Amino acid sequence: MKRFDPDLVFFEPRALDYPLGAALFHDFTASGVPVKMTTSHNQVTGIPGDTEIEQYRAAKRTLVVGVRKTLDFDTSKPSAEYAIPLATGCPGHCHYCYLQTTMSNKPYVRLYVNLEEILDQAKQYIEERKPEITRFEAACTGDPVAFEHLTGALAKYIGFMGQQEFGRLRFVTKFANIDSLLSIPHHRHTEIRFSINSEYVINYFEPNTSTFAERIEAAGKVAEAGYPLGFLIAPIVEYDGWQEGYGELIQQLKGRLGTTTSRITFELIQHRYTKTAKNTILRRYPKTKLSMDEEKRRVKWGRYGKFKYVYPQETETEMKEFFQREIMEAFPQGEILYFV
Ligand code: SF4
Repeated sequence: MKRFDPDLVFFEPRALDYPLGAALFHDFTASGVPVKMTTSHNQVTGIPGDTEIEQYRAAKRTLVVGVRKTLDFDTSKPSAEYAIPLATGCPGHCHYCYLQTTMSNKPYVRLYVNLEEILDQAKQYIEERKPEITRFEAACTGDPVAFEHLTGALAKYIGFMGQQEFGRLRFVTKFANIDSLLSIPHHRHTEIRFSINSEYVINYFEPNTSTFAERIEAAGKVAEAGYPLGFLIAPIVEYDGWQEGYGELIQQLKGRLGTTTSRITFELIQHRYTKTAKNTILRRYPKTKLSMDEEKRRVKWGRYGKFKYVYPQETETEMKEFFQREIMEAFPQGEILYFV
């Protein structure tokens, strides 16, 4: 996987008051990449492209370095108490990405440089809740590992959380550049989850992320480094040969992690979409092979009268049984947290 190196970088002036912001400014300026100033990320203009697709692709290659002003963290229930800010956006091009709808108008990447202030706030939240454990999720607004080579933010957060008796960190990633995290004294206070899929799904629907083999290798290294480890198999896609593809995935994981005796968690999510998401995906990725045919789907109602399209009950049951069988055979110490 090629590391994310932006084509265009904006800086908010206040970012230069922080050592990380100043260092990034120096490095980008020296590298020759176009660097501009912007009063705020909301004021970013001049992202190139004549069509929506061109602008979208250019925005994904545009970086805004700024200061996280709001230090009230969003909640992130049920998997964590708080979403800890680190970055917003992602250079990946997964066709079904949740960011397609949550940040459709501003798909550029934002990095925050006031990491100490963010950690001070995290410390406050931990103090308020102790002796209860306070969990922080670092992947609510993008994939944090994609930018680690630029900021080292995750390394800092992991080191910080390693020292917190009552604090825990977790994040999920589709990127494999985790080598810089392996030797940090994490004290098992950070859980790393890999979003993983069959080779077919990764190759066709997850451009610009780490490959199947890279993610499996990275997961092996994370397990060897003693981190709590989990896998998010999502979205599970029905295609010709899906059983073979996902069977191969489980076997490859077993091959790399078979000697691990620690608990490994699995979260399983079948592919689902809303009409809005489908329209966005087809506009952005008009040649996608992702099947979104309502005739072949079932409506699943959620809260507030909203619904999504999921697979028919028969397919869902088949998938559920398949994964339960394959995972428990390969990983007797594994734990399937849910299938939805
Ligand atoms: S890696 Fe995650 S955040 Fe990035 S584009 Fe893919 S789904 Fe979205």
